Amino acid sequence: MTGQAGTLRLESAAAAQAVLDRYDRDTGRWHLPLVGEFWDAVAEAHRRGLTGHGRRAAVVDSAFDLSIPALHAASGGAPQMAARAGEPTAHGTVVALLILAVAPDAQLDLYETTADGVPDGFAVRAALRRIALSGVDAACLSLGVGVPRHEVTVEPADSLADASFTDMLLGMFAAAGRQVARPRTCPASPCLCEAARAASAQGPIIVAAAGNAVDGVFCPAVAEGVVSAGFQLDARELTAEQTELAAAIPPDFAQSDVTDLTIRQPAGVLGSSFAAPLATGAALLGFDGATLPAMMDSARFGGGADAILPAIVKGDWPKELAPYVLRTHEHAIAAFPHMPDILAGTHWCIGSALLATTTLVNAAYAEMQFGEADRAEPLLRAARRLVPDNPHAPANLAALLHNRARRGAGDPAALCREALDLVLVAKAARPGYQGYDEREAAIRRCLRELGA
Ligand SMILES: [Zn+2]
Ligand SMILES: [Zn+2]
Repeated sequence: MTGQAGTLRLESAAAAQAVLDRYDRDTGRWHLPLVGEFWDAVAEAHRRGLTGHGRRAAVVDSAFDLSIPALHAASGGAPQMAARAGEPTAHGTVVALLILAVAPDAQLDLYETTADGVPDGFAVRAALRRIALSGVDAACLSLGVGVPRHEVTVEPADSLADASFTDMLLGMFAAAGRQVARPRTCPASPCLCEAARAASAQGPIIVAAAGNAVDGVFCPAVAEGVVSAGFQLDARELTAEQTELAAAIPPDFAQSDVTDLTIRQPAGVLGSSFAAPLATGAALLGFDGATLPAMMDSARFGGGADAILPAIVKGDWPKELAPYVLRTHEHAIAAFPHMPDILAGTHWCIGSALLATTTLVNAAYAEMQFGEADRAEPLLRAARRLVPDNPHAPANLAALLHNRARRGAGDPAALCREALDLVLVAKAARPGYQGYDEREAAIRRCLRELGA
């Protein structure tokens, strides 16, 4: 995806047909494993009756195949803006259908903006002007202009401006290959930033693809007020304690530096493509535009700490950094808008499920490794309530309770029994994961020794 700076292009255009081939137009089903933490949160939203009903998103893309029943129904059968006949439809169709996979009852306004298969900057800007006044809840731009990283000057993200540990964090994140910064200027040509920023100022949540260029950024994802959506591959790491870390960054992982909303999923599912439509679909399940920036900011801090945590656990980085990781997680949790109610067990929203769960799980993991294990328990119980299908919270809680039982604290048999229930929940969510089998065997051994 590198080496194409200056060209307005559809994100992951080459992958579109292959993904579309996995969609059954008659049943509306995907023959793709829609698994991972993002889909766990979406499943919980659907269980709670949040399906996008009464919500509307704009899709700015190629042409669309409106002979597909689900797309015909969601769009009312005609695009808001039509391209010339004969424009390719695969990319726009995949993007629109992925939004519907997340928010099946939402309506879609379709804007066809390609000429000869390439998005046209004038058409995209015209679409954004209409979207600004259309009353949609969200808009999806799975397209952009690649800009080489070295042509962009960066400034710290807003929340860092008055943080007492700004320099330490920036240095630590930079050393881990992470940026907590956004471009001060966008050198793209054509630049879509101003049009996207103006549309977002009118109310809709504008989601744009972060792009997959490791040495570049994507315009207009970099624009102020635009949600830059990207993927992070899901990695699992076992430690000697057989607890696990929810989201380590794989060593060969590549993603643009500037990402607001990171969707985690295992390799080989959708690849690192099409994060923007999934994020747009999530927005239709009830993102609150007023709290979203603070939620994303919290997630960035959590993500920064997560980037460093595995290196310290493995001994590649000095253990002296551990207090900073704990402090960064603490900051992320304190900065998250709905956190008091989440910890009290009285609140659920899709933004909290998607953007707080991983921070809670990994902050708890850091406490178990370097801090006070007892501080991890309420964090794990909160994560478990937010996304019941998430296996990491019950797996780590099982480890915590099992370790407590082995220390002889409390009622060891009762602790082991709850730990066993929890590890079985984790196993049901992720069958075949060896770490859970080993934990289960160890707990059962303890229960036998206790005669329970
Ligand atoms: Zn731009
Ligand atoms: Zn919430």
